[in-house]
Amino acid sequence: MRDPPDNRTIRILDPMTVNKIAAGEVVERPASVVKELVENAIDAGARTIRVEISSSGGRITAIGVTDNGIGMSTDDAVLAFAPHATSKISGISDLESLTTLGFRGEALASIAAISKVTLCTKPRGISAVAGTRVVIEGGIIKEQRETGTPEGTYILVEDLFFNTPARKKFQKSPAAEITHITGIIEGLALAHSEISVHLIHNAKELVMTEQSIRLLDTIARLFGNQVSADLIPVDRTVPYVSVSGYISRPSLFRKNQSRMVISINSRYVSSAPITSAIIEGYGTLLSKERFPVVFLSLTIDPTLIDVNVHPAKKLVKLSHEREICTAVREAVKNALLITDLIPAGTVTGSSVVTGLSPPAPHQISYEHARVHSSAVSEPTHAGSSITDRQLRQTELPTGVLPDISLVPELEVIGQVGGIYILASTPSGDLILVDQHAAHERIMYEMVSMKKEGACLSQELIAPVTLHRSARDAAIMRELLPALAEEGFQIEDFGKDAFLVRAVPVVLGKLEQVDLVNEILDDLNREEKERSVSNSERLVRIIACRTAIKAGTVCTPEQCQRILQQLRKVKNPFSCPHGRPTMVRFTREQLDGMFKRT
Ligand code: ADP
Ligand code: MG
Repeated sequence: MRDPPDNRTIRILDPMTVNKIAAGEVVERPASVVKELVENAIDAGARTIRVEISSSGGRITAIGVTDNGIGMSTDDAVLAFAPHATSKISGISDLESLTTLGFRGEALASIAAISKVTLCTKPRGISAVAGTRVVIEGGIIKEQRETGTPEGTYILVEDLFFNTPARKKFQKSPAAEITHITGIIEGLALAHSEISVHLIHNAKELVMTEQSIRLLDTIARLFGNQVSADLIPVDRTVPYVSVSGYISRPSLFRKNQSRMVISINSRYVSSAPITSAIIEGYGTLLSKERFPVVFLSLTIDPTLIDVNVHPAKKLVKLSHEREICTAVREAVKNALLITDLIPAGTVTGSSVVTGLSPPAPHQISYEHARVHSSAVSEPTHAGSSITDRQLRQTELPTGVLPDISLVPELEVIGQVGGIYILASTPSGDLILVDQHAAHERIMYEMVSMKKEGACLSQELIAPVTLHRSARDAAIMRELLPALAEEGFQIEDFGKDAFLVRAVPVVLGKLEQVDLVNEILDDLNREEKERSVSNSERLVRIIACRTAIKAGTVCTPEQCQRILQQLRKVKNPFSCPHGRPTMVRFTREQLDGMFKRT
């Protein structure tokens, strides 16, 4: 045990210490300074904001922010650094109708308590000749005088954390910090496409947006035309919330959530529930390790939001969170449902044969596959009848689903390698369909649709006993309710044994006990992911296991049936695991490849 300090009387901390402690909450890292200063510039009605960062010797040495906002009078320029000094609210009730990003009056006081700040400012439009310059160091005003300066505000922060050694020690590398700052600036620029934002690091321009009323222009500036071309618009207004912005086609994704940019009432925020709602909206269109690119802005009645959750104001608390999340999920889902999501086929330069040079090794193997495919396109009878039965299972009742399809009419050309169906559209596009992925999608929608009505289960003539390992048996018991919901009647026989009395109709004839075992293996193997329930997982596995396999030779009629069925499903563009079912080479693309343009 440590000895208690000699002097254990309670004392009130001096204001300097209080400020330094409080500053730690607002200014966690250099990026927090950038965020606070840019938010202040936005609140000041700036049309252009310029952020300049310098780094040397392994740390960020200076952060400068220039804006052409309303500026400050001399009195305000000094007062702005006092703790809890703000022009944005005057009482707690103002929080209910907050339209500014700041309101706590803490940022400047906090930043000044732990760094050296130089402020130059002049109010907008009062034709004053001189502005004000204030220098403040560790919270102590060192200089205050008139200065020549343009309208608006310039703030320079140097020597950050000079008097808080513990914080200084834990700083990330400048490269990591700059990455973080870039993310913040992009988020703020996207939430305010009406403002032109520049970010410069050691004289190198990292971010540059122009004032624009169109969010899509800002997106294109920040991330390039290729990204903006792969986005689809979202627009939905329901009670409590209106959702607008852009989301990516499933073919555009990232490995993490870093490009899921959300703003609420023009405040760039992070919100786990809304992020999950967006991912849920994609449902089976994205596989689990992929995240969409999203720029969504939500407008919510300010009385339903509490931004006063954390000093950094990046988190918000929502009342009616469930309704709001549902609206977001549905907005995303519907936007995707009404869009033709066939990804464009891409051909890398090297794989297009342009001259008479000998083919590269992979082209030889391609040649191989083609010869092989024409050899196997004579279907075998046994395979054909199984395929027919599988296709009968998924013959969707007409009239259940709308006749209009997002997939164009497709005419089968043939099958390649027992895997891909080649088809053409009336406009001369070439479509390649992954037959397994396509049939898996059709099967998936069949099975989930059946669930909404009566669940179809068929009894086995003789019940089958399954033996599972002890660990599997434990998992099985947990899954029995979900299995029952899908039409499995399985009894727990104690220890490691289970008696299967009935199985879902879609499993077909029931000499296939292996299939049941395979499904159970899949269920045990696949770890739980995201928000996918057991019964949803089961439906996906059944769809995968009962769909026509890759490598199954299909007759042209069978291919045509697969395509017809695919045109009728709700989500024809991806398999339930998020892989594409088809790829398109447009007529123009083909012409380009053959240099016909
Ligand atoms: P808050 O933003 O919560 O009000 P800050 O400490 O960030 O608190 O700023 C204090 C006050 O200083 C603001 O309320 C505003 O009046 C003034 N201020 C800060 N930055 C600027 C700026 N760039 N332009 C004009 N006024 C500013
Ligand atoms: Mg502020």
